[in-house]
Amino acid sequence: MKVKFYGTRGSIAISNRESIKYGGNTTCIRIYSECLPKDLVMGIDGGTGFVPMSYDILREGVVKEVVLMFTHYHHDHILGLFLSPITFMKNIKLKLFGPVDGNIGVKKMMEDFMRPPYFPVHYKEVNSHITCMNLEFPRTLVILFHPHGYKIMNIDDFERITGSNGFIPIGKGKYPVEEFLVVTMYKSRHPEQTVSYRFEEKSTGKKFVFLTDHENEDGIPNSFKAHVEGVHLLVMDSQYSREKYDKMTAGYGHGTPDYCVRVAETLNVKKLGLTHHDPSSRDKDIEAILEEAKRASTKNDIQIFACADYEEVEV
Ligand SMILES: [Zn+2]
Ligand SMILES: [Zn+2]
Repeated sequence: MKVKFYGTRGSIAISNRESIKYGGNTTCIRIYSECLPKDLVMGIDGGTGFVPMSYDILREGVVKEVVLMFTHYHHDHILGLFLSPITFMKNIKLKLFGPVDGNIGVKKMMEDFMRPPYFPVHYKEVNSHITCMNLEFPRTLVILFHPHGYKIMNIDDFERITGSNGFIPIGKGKYPVEEFLVVTMYKSRHPEQTVSYRFEEKSTGKKFVFLTDHENEDGIPNSFKAHVEGVHLLVMDSQYSREKYDKMTAGYGHGTPDYCVRVAETLNVKKLGLTHHDPSSRDKDIEAILEEAKRASTKNDIQIFACADYEEVEV
């Protein structure tokens, strides 16, 4: 399993000469796994990074379907979707998964944003190749990817089948759990209904958690522990230095490097990537946040890095 970051910025996209190394696109990442169908691309969030990701997908020329899973619908996680060529291309299926907040799920979000006067085209004029799927009560669901397709399943049914070494139906066949990429979800600590996704590639045992838009909290709840414990790669929100957080940004829904390190070390994470960089952070400020994380670290065997746009990381 491998991830590629196409957007690692939080809040708003930026462009300036002091922010070349880490980039300025907002949140979007692509996940590569041998358990995905060969003609399918899967990613998280549609921030402005989704536009360059879309052009990469088109250059590859083989992709028939794109699945995007939204953490939540703040602007920095959706804006790239409306200017991606894939949103307008009828020959590539676009499947959107996301949480429900109040009565607003993925489809309503698309309808709300793709309409005049905010946007020149109505969602209903482009949506013949787009399917929206609400993840209501994400903790009760599991998303299963397999080289022959994918499906959403109730987590109790999934555990019943896997507990009895049963086979999971996908399309016309049934397959053992060892062939799947299994996605489970956890609610982040953020002002809106926000999902953290956990990916477990059963064929290799590799695990990855994407935990953005998540604020520091005291203690580690058991459900959080189960979500993050022992993962090979944790990519986590570290938008603010501890100093900035204590002075002015506590309660904004974002994390600090020392908290990310505490979580990662307590839960035996192998690699920690810091993301959701503040728009006011230049490269040197992000490097200072990375140093702050390394200073907070008490273990030698954890690898800590700051995520950068267009960088690929092996899980
Ligand atoms: Zn955000
Ligand atoms: Zn947010």
